[in-house]
Amino acid sequence: MGVWDYNFTSDSLQLNTWILELFKIKPSATDFSFDVLKKVIHVDDFERTKFEFTQACRTRSDFKSNFRITTPTGSMKYIRAIGSYYKNDRGDDCSVSVIWDVSDEKSRAHEIKRVKRELENRNNQLHEAKAKLEHLALHDALTGLPNRRYLEQILETRLDGSLNSLLMIDLDRFKSVNDTLGHAAGDALLKHVAKILNASVMGTDFVARTGGDEFIILCFQHYTRLELNKLAGKIISEISQPFEFDADTCSIGASLGVVPEIKCGLSADKLLGNADLALYEAKQNGRNHASFFEETLRESQLHRKRLAEELLDGLERNEFIPFFQPQFNSDDLEVSGLEVLVRWHHPSRGILPPGEFLDAATDLGITSKIDNIVLNSALFQATAWKAKGIKVPKISVNVSQQRLADEHLIDELRAINFGDQRLSFELVESIFLDDADPVILSNIDEIKNLGIEIEIDDFGTAYTSLLSLLKIKPACLKIDRQLVGPAVNCAQTRHVIKSIVDIAKSLDMEIIAEGVETSDHIELMGQLGCDALQGYFFGYPMVAFDCEQLIGNPQLDLQSISRMNI
Ligand code: C2E
Ligand code: CA
Ligand code: CA
Repeated sequence: MGVWDYNFTSDSLQLNTWILELFKIKPSATDFSFDVLKKVIHVDDFERTKFEFTQACRTRSDFKSNFRITTPTGSMKYIRAIGSYYKNDRGDDCSVSVIWDVSDEKSRAHEIKRVKRELENRNNQLHEAKAKLEHLALHDALTGLPNRRYLEQILETRLDGSLNSLLMIDLDRFKSVNDTLGHAAGDALLKHVAKILNASVMGTDFVARTGGDEFIILCFQHYTRLELNKLAGKIISEISQPFEFDADTCSIGASLGVVPEIKCGLSADKLLGNADLALYEAKQNGRNHASFFEETLRESQLHRKRLAEELLDGLERNEFIPFFQPQFNSDDLEVSGLEVLVRWHHPSRGILPPGEFLDAATDLGITSKIDNIVLNSALFQATAWKAKGIKVPKISVNVSQQRLADEHLIDELRAINFGDQRLSFELVESIFLDDADPVILSNIDEIKNLGIEIEIDDFGTAYTSLLSLLKIKPACLKIDRQLVGPAVNCAQTRHVIKSIVDIAKSLDMEIIAEGVETSDHIELMGQLGCDALQGYFFGYPMVAFDCEQLIGNPQLDLQSISRMNI
């Protein structure tokens, strides 16, 4: 420790050896002026330090000073000095100070500061990373929209009366874009939809992507039903505009479930359930449609649930049976084939037509199973008839889209022995939208390779292009009854049918007219060139026993066949 004694009155300084050594000052003289320290105290600190000393003496007070010195080797030391004022014998103002090297302490303080800064930096980085992670966890990476988790968090706190309404949006035909144009197109389309939704709502509303092709809008702004209807209509119309991706154009649609006037205190689960019900209703109403939630929808849901359970039971209990509707050559009115139509023998409601259950079965994903049952029981029946000497020229079964897209279909068909029975699959025209699923197209080829004919059902109700007709090359077109029905009284419809017949003939296809209900229909369809006829005039779809009476006794008066079968 160094000691220095400074006489302010005479400006003389006495230093002990420690200081002399520390400052490398020759000890030849014992009295120095304060300025001797000028060469040792750091130039930036000297004036301040001197001022502190002289000021302490002048004010006769104690003092404390910190300054740096530069040693002769060029290194720097941190020095602390504490001094006390006193008057010497002569009455001079003096101050005696002890000084010591605090470099270690200083460097520790520096180190602590550095570590503190580093910790702060790291802390900031952690905060940023945490914020990023939180953002990632609450947002959809593709569209940047809030995700379902974020939506749930918002719903946890905002079902306090501040949420006005909710729109649940589900894209129609999105899967087909993904399947046919690839995921890049699907991704671009989702981003495009996200933009449309963001642009359609007010700043205070909240748009989230809650599933593959499902979005939810929470409206905090007050919307009347009319305004919600307008908003939904705008969203549907914008999403339905054709969308260009690379050289392709794709078009999708949207169905919306709307929950208006959300009551305070409703649970999030219930709210989302209500939106689901409304969305389901919208889809049932023919897609590209918005439906509002009503309490009555809950009853329909219960009904659907019951129906779904009964359908599954029905599958187990073999309640699905084939009915048959005969088809006749238009020239000699001989039986040319049978269309097999499924019926559900319901344990309490009796025989039900497909209109009562096929949609529910499709939602349940069991139409493929039902189609398979119908095919097998029809073939079983044909074999039984054959054993009795009754030959059925052709059996046609209806094949749902689910069945056609079923990857087990071809294996199942290979396992069936249909011998020399001419067999045909009726596929509804809407399956062949031009960008049909590649699995479907390859299944169609395999079906044909197995010797099964393809017929296009309900022809004229959808929009098969001539190109896809050429691609699929069906054996037969069935003209829909909506065209056949009015043809007798409408020249234009007759022209349309004639054109269809001409196209079919040029492609070597047969033509069956459906919905033949009167003798006028029979005559007209024959004249227009249809090869075969089917309809209530000849008979309603009927049970195997009645059908056997008909095809086993060709001389039987057609009209006498029981019309009691539905
Ligand atoms: P579809 O394939 O067009 O079958 C013809 C429908 O028209 C049948 O209704 C039949 O009863 C009815 N029909 C026949 N002749 C006439 C007529 O002269 N006038 C009128 N107005 N209607 C006539 P059904 O049996 O109720 O079947 C309805 C639809 O259900 C079928 O239409 C078909 O798309 C579907 N379907 C029937 N059976 C099956 C099946 O086993 N599998 C699948 N996937 N779908 C089936
Ligand atoms: Ca059919
Ligand atoms: Ca049809």
